Amino acid sequence: MKAIVVGGGIMGLATAWGLARDGHAVELFEQGPLPNPLASSMDEHRLIRHPYGDHLGYARMIDQAYAAWDLLWGDLGERLYAATGTLALTGNGETWAARSAAGLARLGKSMAELPLADAARRFPQLDMHGVERAFWMTSGGVLFAQDIVAALARHLAGRPTVRLHAETAVRSVDLEGGRVVTERGTSYGADVVVVAAGAWVGRLLDDRRLVPSRQIVLYFTLPSEQRAAWAEAPMVIDKTGDVGLYLVPPAEGRGLKIGDHVFSRSGDPTADRAATVDEMQPLLGRCRSLIRGFERWQVERLKVCFYTVTDDERFIVEKKAAKGWLMSPCSGHGFKFGAVMGLELARTIASERDPTVHARWAAGLAGDQPT
Ligand SMILES: Cc1cc2nc3c(=O)[nH]c(=O)nc-3n(C[C@H](O)[C@H](O)[C@H](O)COP(=O)(O)OP(=O)(O)OC[C@H]3O[C@@H](n4cnc5c(N)ncnc54)[C@H](O)[C@@H]3O)c2cc1C
Repeated sequence: MKAIVVGGGIMGLATAWGLARDGHAVELFEQGPLPNPLASSMDEHRLIRHPYGDHLGYARMIDQAYAAWDLLWGDLGERLYAATGTLALTGNGETWAARSAAGLARLGKSMAELPLADAARRFPQLDMHGVERAFWMTSGGVLFAQDIVAALARHLAGRPTVRLHAETAVRSVDLEGGRVVTERGTSYGADVVVVAAGAWVGRLLDDRRLVPSRQIVLYFTLPSEQRAAWAEAPMVIDKTGDVGLYLVPPAEGRGLKIGDHVFSRSGDPTADRAATVDEMQPLLGRCRSLIRGFERWQVERLKVCFYTVTDDERFIVEKKAAKGWLMSPCSGHGFKFGAVMGLELARTIASERDPTVHARWAAGLAGDQPT
């Protein structure tokens, strides 16, 4: 079988990887360089964690995600991941962590509540004022996202059945006929076309459920005496103040990053990506109250990145016509599932598995992998 994949982010590359592992031919088209620094997948890190609030389908999928990453590390010959554990804090009546823990208990997984005094002792770099409940889980960690994307692109470039077309934007797709036409006007055909175009998807397919959302993250330089402690710190998910934040510790020499999960639901991925610290004042306010010694942290850089969000934050991976799939697992939480999304879509495409069952699984609505 031959497949065309549009988009060289983690989803397109992982799908190409899954297909190529089974001996299928793949042509992948990426509008920019490969990897493309503007892709949502291209940042130093992305988090993977079991707690998932009420989205139990995604919590259940985390073990499958880890297994798929392990398979990828085997193929790449390197492990681009650091385990950190997951610390979840809530206040202001927010119950996300408690709901996550209850859901995980149903799956037989332990997310333990820490007495606040213990949490304060164990994580002295955090100020627990305003925190009502603290939960800890040993699983969870940091995927070195841009290194993964680059390594996967290199790996695929060496596969005999894969052809990568960098700097080749696709202008239009025909999902009924299995064809794409590039901006240069060249037409390519295949048995199946997978559109994994991230926040640019609206230029190829009209699906109003998918909304590009400009997001900003902040990288910080820490004072030297704080660096060692933070390098050993867990990821922190804080839903305590008016602004929730996530903190990615500087594992294995990567940067320390903080962001929020508030969807802007606006912005154009092709527009200028400038941002100012002023845009981040609410987030900085929460950092000041949560992080001890934060007044000595310096903003090293801001990065603008795009989510592609849906109303219910579920992924859309759907067969749209006889020979075409739309693949959009984002809403700001897709990277962790990149390897498993790619492998499973490759299997469904190649094996007559029911596309609607696949779509439900990808949307986090089914218990197990599609059969
Ligand atoms: C700030 C931020 C923080 C995040 N944090 C996390 C996290 O902690 N954990 C997590 O699991 N997920 C996280 N995510 C989400 C995750 O990064 C995305 O779900 C994932 O990267 C989406 O991958 P993708 O391949 O679908 O899209 P992309 O990586 O954007 O790839 C799409 C590619 O398609 C190319 N393309 C588009 N149109 C065309 C065309 N017409 N022709 C050719 N090529 C085209 C683009 O250039 C791009 O390279 C975060 C996202 C952001 C922005």
